[in-house]
Amino acid sequence: MIVAGIHGGYEWNTITLADQLITILPGRPDLIPQDVTLFILRSLNPDGDHRAHGIYGRANENGVDLNRNWPAYWQADWPQTGCWNLLPLTAGSSPASEPETQALMQFLLGQHVDALINYHSAALGIFSGGQPPDPASLSLAEAIAEVSDYPYPPVDTGCQYTGQLIDWASMNGIAAIDIELSTHTSTDLRQNLRILTTFLNWRR
Ligand SMILES: [Zn+2]
Repeated sequence: MIVAGIHGGYEWNTITLADQLITILPGRPDLIPQDVTLFILRSLNPDGDHRAHGIYGRANENGVDLNRNWPAYWQADWPQTGCWNLLPLTAGSSPASEPETQALMQFLLGQHVDALINYHSAALGIFSGGQPPDPASLSLAEAIAEVSDYPYPPVDTGCQYTGQLIDWASMNGIAAIDIELSTHTSTDLRQNLRILTTFLNWRR
């Protein structure tokens, strides 16, 4: 499964990338192996995308950073050092307090999703799910790093990541990675078509 737009209008180019893939794939069925089902969620945070393209578009309608809301190392107040801190956002009133989180959680478990790319921007590279990363997420990250120019291992800003989607996915047996696009505007389409092919042919 591919998820875009968890950070709404702050990372609107991830939604543009998802839309490009959704447009291209019906004409390229050869890209999807027979034994694979691909789900693309184009915009996990539509309220943020609608509100603003920029920092004011990052949170959901409740002022929550949706990538701090997952039941994985969740903290109401996380250390800000090295982390995104341009606005005071919250992690939600409790783990999985937000409807966006709950809906995606149910979908991932209900569909028995095996592997996940969660797109962000910008520039920090490829992150593996789990703290420390689980072997399947590491294997997926390494396979994708081989066909991409995105930094791997990712840039270490010193941020302590809490409540993240990919960490929750890792805890639930899903191979999961974050990929950060190279800028806040480009979709790096050619590179992400290579990544898609590798993703869909990756096996445990
Ligand atoms: Zn992000």
